[in-house]
Amino acid sequence: MTAAPHSARFEELLPAYALGALDGDDLRELEEHLTAGCEECRRQLELWDRDLEALAGSVVPVEPSETTRARVLRMTAGAATAVPPPRRLPRWLALAAAALLVMAVWGVAGQTRLRGELERLTAERDRLARQVAVLDREVTLARDAAERSAQALQVVAAPGVKSVVLAGLGPAPQAKGQTYVNPRQGGALFYAFDLPALPQGKTYELWYIAAGKPVPAGTFAVDPHGAASVRVERVPDVSSIQAWAVTVEPAGGVPQPTGAMVLKG
Ligand SMILES: [Zn+2]
Repeated sequence: MTAAPHSARFEELLPAYALGALDGDDLRELEEHLTAGCEECRRQLELWDRDLEALAGSVVPVEPSETTRARVLRMTAGAATAVPPPRRLPRWLALAAAALLVMAVWGVAGQTRLRGELERLTAERDRLARQVAVLDREVTLARDAAERSAQALQVVAAPGVKSVVLAGLGPAPQAKGQTYVNPRQGGALFYAFDLPALPQGKTYELWYIAAGKPVPAGTFAVDPHGAASVRVERVPDVSSIQAWAVTVEPAGGVPQPTGAMVLKG
């Protein structure tokens, strides 16, 4: 095959060739001309390559749009696999590919950042789940307390309720107590105020005295304000209760009072 001699047409084709944008007869003819060793075209092509390289280097790298990325990748792939291979991959295109690679690495770094963020969010979610569990427990406790209050109100506000005031004795003169007995239900509520906290191994025990005999009605500890309440499920006929009392007993309570009496009424 005989290559065409140098002409202005080849010079016009050179920039497009440097861009890798030439195809068809133009590409074939220019390549034949270059292969034949035209010095002028080779010199101009080097200038175009240098210009395009400088241009690629001067562009601030930005995240390419999907279309741009796809196009550049297609061009890179096309340049590598085109048959016949047009020529060596233009350096500016290699630079563009390198820039894409940088952005891909950048993307990986971004993913690492995202993974860190995901871990942080997972930890935050776990923390919130624990918080919700705590709040759940608190809601349950509050509901229980509300239920107890409602039951207490039922006892205290029921018709025919008999109330007895207990006064502080010897060791706790400032202490007070009050019992409410619901004659219909047969239940009673006891409230204590201003009782001192007891040492380890000791408990307060509530009694009612019926037919001259003390009957255990429950043990209790006081809160930091010295208050306590005891719900007595079943008491005998209200009229048979002669008195109420609180004593200090060994932890767990005893069937018969053994310790000091702190409240009586
Ligand atoms: Zn030429």
